[in-house]
Amino acid sequence: MTDTKHSKVLIIGSGPAGYTAAIYAARANLSPLMVTGYEPGGQLMITSDVENYPGFAEKIEGPWLMEQMKLQAEKVGTKTISDMIASVDFKSRPFKATGDSGTVYTADTVIISTGAKARWLGIPSEEKFRGRGVSACATCDGFFYKNKEVLVVGGGNSAVEEALFLANICSKVTLIHRRDSLRAEKIMQDRLFKNSKIQVIWDTALEEVIGDNTGMTGAKIKNLKTGAITEIKAHGLFVAIGHVPATDIFKGKLDMDANGYIITAADSTATNIPGVFAAGDVTDHTYRQAVTAAGMGCMAALEADRFLAKQDSTRQSEAAE
Ligand code: NAP
Repeated sequence: MTDTKHSKVLIIGSGPAGYTAAIYAARANLSPLMVTGYEPGGQLMITSDVENYPGFAEKIEGPWLMEQMKLQAEKVGTKTISDMIASVDFKSRPFKATGDSGTVYTADTVIISTGAKARWLGIPSEEKFRGRGVSACATCDGFFYKNKEVLVVGGGNSAVEEALFLANICSKVTLIHRRDSLRAEKIMQDRLFKNSKIQVIWDTALEEVIGDNTGMTGAKIKNLKTGAITEIKAHGLFVAIGHVPATDIFKGKLDMDANGYIITAADSTATNIPGVFAAGDVTDHTYRQAVTAAGMGCMAALEADRFLAKQDSTRQSEAAE
């Protein structure tokens, strides 16, 4: 028999947006149910040092912050379930979401906070050496390259953060960027340029990962101004070129932009389906910060609460007529 679980507020995804939505929904007496996914906590789980989440004067670790959010959400009454939503049906209410486990989650409102995942370069050799030199997470894999030479691709905060982290472990870090300036915050850039272990190669694209049966041994890089291709020695490659929203299961079910981000109304987390809300990196390609995701999670819970209150008052006035 199919296991069915009903909730007033179903939260899909367990990053800062999801947990904040859960805290607010629970405190509004809505008994939210959160389906966490198999890797709960989102991108902060692979972020070593967090220095810009307000409330903490000293550096904190991403996984610790997520554990605190989880404990806080559960303490105020959120039920969390480890399952992965495989499909959704938003055609009628109650909404339906089916987990990998076979459980069907029905809900009066849904808050989508599935976040985003690392973007890859998309070259065949990258795939071939994934896990044997190629990674998208220095905090997870950096240790394997102790006293070795590594490459980082990208020019944003992630790339600079990865390069700085790797410089503490590796003998040399080469940051390869396709333009002649970084988009990372100035404070991060200053740290990068001051670090004698880090070299930056500008106007350059990574063409191919080279290696043998022991793993990666180097890469072919192309100067985008001159077209010149050269080889560079390295045992590791960390790709840090942004993120793609985790929205595959919502394709065709909700309005999205060309890059797959869920579209929400202005100053709101409301999607095009009344009662379905989206918060955090799944809808935000501009700010993408833990604190902005948390803010959107709060908005989504308040909006879900108002939506449910409106449904109730409509039902009551219909019954009174
Ligand atoms: P991002 O800011 O979008 O930067 C992506 C970088 O990768 C850009 O420099 C981009 O180049 C480059 N790039 C994109 N596609 C590429 C391709 N196919 N080949 C080569 N290079 C490519 O992404 P992010 O660094 O992951 O940061 C995402 C968000 O998270 C940002 O808002 C960032 O501030 C935030 N974040 C914050 C922290 C922190 O505060 N501690 C840490 C990490 C991330 P162009 O510059 O030429 O476009």
